[in-house]
Amino acid sequence: MRSERKAFMADCIFCKIVKGKIPSDKVMEGKHFIAIRDINPQAPVHILLITREHFKNILEFPRSEGMFFEMLSMIEKVVKAEKIEKGFRVVINTGLEAGQSVDHFHIHILGGREMKWPPG
Ligand code: 5GP
Ligand code: ZN
Repeated sequence: MRSERKAFMADCIFCKIVKGKIPSDKVMEGKHFIAIRDINPQAPVHILLITREHFKNILEFPRSEGMFFEMLSMIEKVVKAEKIEKGFRVVINTGLEAGQSVDHFHIHILGGREMKWPPG
């Protein structure tokens, strides 16, 4: 691995959360993902699914059946555990223009309130 990339990952807030160097409110753990509560929730339920490994965004997320399967099954488990089956939103902000503020792939699961469309 190139040294600039290593240095970048050492500064990555989600890499630090995955390694336990920064505390988080963890709700679930998988082989490839962890699920934590967002520090600045935008809905009564706001959970982040974060890859254990550092990928910049959905375009870098590997085309691996195992990871894709776990991603979908953890979304389902979180939704059921939080009892938001009747309405929830799964969001993947990608790039500055879409409001991605942490360059480590993550999925927002939001629920527990009425939501509007189109999103802002
Ligand atoms: P993005 O804006 O990249 O789509 O989402 C990043 C999310 O990470 C934001 O909703 C933000 O509140 C959350 N976040 C940023 N830093 C931390 C942190 O240290 N802990 C937790 N739990 N969430 C964080
Ligand atoms: Zn990272």
